[in-house]
Amino acid sequence: MNGFSTGEEDSRGPTDQICCLIDNSERCSKVAGNASYSKRIQNTVAQKRLNLSLDNTVGHFCICDLHKRIIQSAKDSEVANNEVDLHHLQINTLRRYQRRYEVLTRPGLNKAQLADNIMKHFKTIPIVKEHVLTYFIYTVKTNGNKLDQKNGLNSSNDIM
Ligand SMILES: [Zn+2]
Repeated sequence: MNGFSTGEEDSRGPTDQICCLIDNSERCSKVAGNASYSKRIQNTVAQKRLNLSLDNTVGHFCICDLHKRIIQSAKDSEVANNEVDLHHLQINTLRRYQRRYEVLTRPGLNKAQLADNIMKHFKTIPIVKEHVLTYFIYTVKTNGNKLDQKNGLNSSNDIM
């Protein structure tokens, strides 16, 4: 059936490989990119309980761009969750948080210690959707968003 082939199509470069993953018990049929299903990636997949497994019959570890992105974004979300770092805040902000939530600390803490205490508290706050929404709507209605109060928004006359 390859009577008209020049032979080039038979070259077995890496681009001919199909992604080695089984996604939700369905064999992925996309062309694999240069990313490979390394031990590190396998760990991420296991940790994030992604429904991916390696098809051992393919004999390589290349995965397609889609699966690379899926795994990457699962990893990114993990990083984002763990990296709320209140140590970057100014001490005034920390103190305001402390007063607002009545976080008890012993007196005379330095900024790092205060941040540690507030971090611990911060992780225990349950997010109540209704409260967040109510506050958001209140802020919008009362023009609390400073971005809307920039000068010159209405003085379109001087733009010529
Ligand atoms: Zn794939």
